Amino acid sequence: MEALNEIIKKCNELAFDLNFTRAKEWKKQDNSRVLVGYMPIYFPREIVHAANGLAVGILGGGDKKQIIKGDAYYQSYVCHMPRGIVELVLDNHLEDFDGFVFPSICDVIRNLSGMFQLFGKGKFVKYLDFPQNFLPEVGGEFYKSELQHILNEIKKINNIEITDESLQKSIELFNKNRKLTEEIYNIRSEFPWRITAADVYSIVRAGFVIPVEEHNEILEEVIKLLKVENGEPLDKIRVIVIGAFCEQPPLSLIKTIELAGCYIIEDDFLLGSRWIKGDMNTTKYSPLDSIVRAYLEQSTFSSSVYDVDNPKELRLLNQLKERKVDGIIFAAPSFCDPALLDHPILQKACDDNNVRYISFLYSENTGQFKVIKEQVGTFSDSIKLWA
Ligand code: SF4
Repeated sequence: MEALNEIIKKCNELAFDLNFTRAKEWKKQDNSRVLVGYMPIYFPREIVHAANGLAVGILGGGDKKQIIKGDAYYQSYVCHMPRGIVELVLDNHLEDFDGFVFPSICDVIRNLSGMFQLFGKGKFVKYLDFPQNFLPEVGGEFYKSELQHILNEIKKINNIEITDESLQKSIELFNKNRKLTEEIYNIRSEFPWRITAADVYSIVRAGFVIPVEEHNEILEEVIKLLKVENGEPLDKIRVIVIGAFCEQPPLSLIKTIELAGCYIIEDDFLLGSRWIKGDMNTTKYSPLDSIVRAYLEQSTFSSSVYDVDNPKELRLLNQLKERKVDGIIFAAPSFCDPALLDHPILQKACDDNNVRYISFLYSENTGQFKVIKEQVGTFSDSIKLWA
């Protein structure tokens, strides 16, 4: 599968390029283009695309950036990702960016948005407050005004006013992107030996830093190649990895889980790219309203969403059944309050339903995997032997 390996290699380079070279090249081709960096988890990239911009996912420094200055900005009992992002800013990796959006995940991200204002980077910094009220006339209207605020900021830079037609076109491209990504997950669920979870990760992550049109082409090519049989099934258990929705695990950690006897069939890595379930409905609503409605009615479950009528533990158990998995791996970043506050609720649901699980913490620059490998290996063996 030389062609597939070539694509994975290219995606790997794009996904982990901390200089965001491709995005910056794209911007240079047209004076009215803007780059808008956004932090995890979810941000409706469609609005930036419609305004001739590229929304670029900034996921931290990972295990490729030594943190020196970043540590001075955060106390020791805070997760690692924001330190990596501070290091990227102070080392001038984000120089060509026009603006930054900080979706409301937790207090750490809120504070980071304040720091960006102090750094004076970009032409705007927006803390994007997602609604906690899911009524269209309350939370929906509020969310719409938040999105309009971002569009106004972009307009101040490039003088582009989006139209229904331009937004419709952007929505169609991202609908397609989500559909293709889901298809790759479905193929992997059925034939997990054809591509590793780490390779799927790189392919999806590349889409955070390149234009959606280019990413759609890559995904289509990958799907074509994955339809051909490749490799053979191994004696591994099928697992969901959950808790890794914001600070990303190092690629080697994903590889370690699979090498220790698991097929990762479902996960919440890079959750923003799969946040909306199904297409945004532009037939029933105006394009901007369809983005709002999609958030209110089609969001996946996550620790950062307080959707009291839609308990996440039930959604996790449903996912477990749909994907026919044998167990769950709770893998959360150290000091991640949203993930760690949810774990007891989710784990109780597992206990009540005889679902096997293990749990460990990581940080984006974790470099030692021996203990995790032993823990996951024992988990996998115990399910194979006694489940
Ligand atoms: S990893 Fe957790 S605590 Fe850290 S910024 Fe993300 S959600 Fe907040």
